[in-house]
Amino acid sequence: MRVWFFSGRQVLWWALGCLTLGVFLGTNGIALLPVAGGNAHRGISGRTIVIDAGHGGVDPGAVSAAGAIEKEITLQIAKELEYLLKRAAVYVVMVRHGDYDLADSSETNLLNRKRQDLSKRVLIAKEANADLYISIHANYFPSPRWSGAQTFYYEGSAESQHLARTLQTELVRYLGPNNRLARPGDFRVLRDTTMPAAMVEVGFLSNPREAQLLSQESYQKQVAAAIFSGILRYYRE
Ligand SMILES: [Zn+2]
Repeated sequence: MRVWFFSGRQVLWWALGCLTLGVFLGTNGIALLPVAGGNAHRGISGRTIVIDAGHGGVDPGAVSAAGAIEKEITLQIAKELEYLLKRAAVYVVMVRHGDYDLADSSETNLLNRKRQDLSKRVLIAKEANADLYISIHANYFPSPRWSGAQTFYYEGSAESQHLARTLQTELVRYLGPNNRLARPGDFRVLRDTTMPAAMVEVGFLSNPREAQLLSQESYQKQVAAAIFSGILRYYRE
């Protein structure tokens, strides 16, 4: 997605975030998983969560100057998040598991394909009677200057706003400080889904440093761990 917002400081959120959950940042910067067992997965086990890896197939999404492709990054993060959620006994519905979109195979018009693709993603969540919908994208802006993960929700949905805020808090905590806040965004998958839903823009592919990080498996795992932690926190608070 090509959207961006600028916002104030998040020092307080950062401090609050450090007080919650048994999650720690290792000295090498790699985020460790929450301690398993006991009540670690309280509130999340048995839920149905849809993971929407943005784009796919003929639709690559954004592409960095060095050639990092959004559809590949979103899928890798989605698969890692799937792994973490399944370990917590969550029923995971993946919108896609490979490099394809969800439009009819006969449709050749790209705009129509995009419409069909987004409708299908929403339909999958509805048919699964999902408890949560997590959409994963990467951001892009003409200037290489901007960076930082940011989460969006559909305005008017208090639950989605709460979800987006908890996700944003954990993204900042796991990936390093940034000044972005969870913001309303008018995206089809957020507008048309009926369960709490959030879109995570995992960083800017237009920023060379962040694009390089997003291409690394270790960083993709950190992003997934942050989203997982945000979901855990959503169900606890
Ligand atoms: Zn996107």
